[in-house]
Amino acid sequence: MKLYFYYGVMGSSKTANALMKKFSFEERGRKVALLKSSIDNRSGETVIKSRVGLCSEAIVVKNKEYIKNVINPNEFDIIIVDEAQFLSEVQVDELRKMANDGIMVMCYGLKTDFTGHLFPGTKRIMEVCDTIREIQCMCNKCGTKATINARYQGSKIIYDGKIIDIGGEEKYIPLCYKCWKKGEI
Ligand SMILES: [Zn+2]
Repeated sequence: MKLYFYYGVMGSSKTANALMKKFSFEERGRKVALLKSSIDNRSGETVIKSRVGLCSEAIVVKNKEYIKNVINPNEFDIIIVDEAQFLSEVQVDELRKMANDGIMVMCYGLKTDFTGHLFPGTKRIMEVCDTIREIQCMCNKCGTKATINARYQGSKIIYDGKIIDIGGEEKYIPLCYKCWKKGEI
């Protein structure tokens, strides 16, 4: 089966899309494993919650764990991964193998960090996936397509700092490249 990558900036309803896919497959009797990276614990340990209100229990996968030790792939038809940018390269390669062995794998995640560079997990997904689709969302400033998860404090855009800094709308804002370079929100 295929490995799909759906990417978009924060606020582009990736999680809602992932959850709708899960519910729709389950309605048709398919067995779906919903995975979530353990780096992100915004909504508690095991629950994936979208901004539009959909939520579901998820199986947490820590960065150094083998996915095959967390789920038995033989029990599922489809694996959906939220926050897939936090996967390790080893985990992405595991998912690729599971797809080769007959499971549909759908990864949802961010393309780049707040400095505009690929996450390592995302880079590996892009290298090995079959299909890449963008989930679009508008720049908060000008309304063109947002491409950057800008980190900000007050009205200033921040360009340096640690890459992983979990947060929501209080820390990140979707912007187009041009608005991001202006330095202020
Ligand atoms: Zn803009």
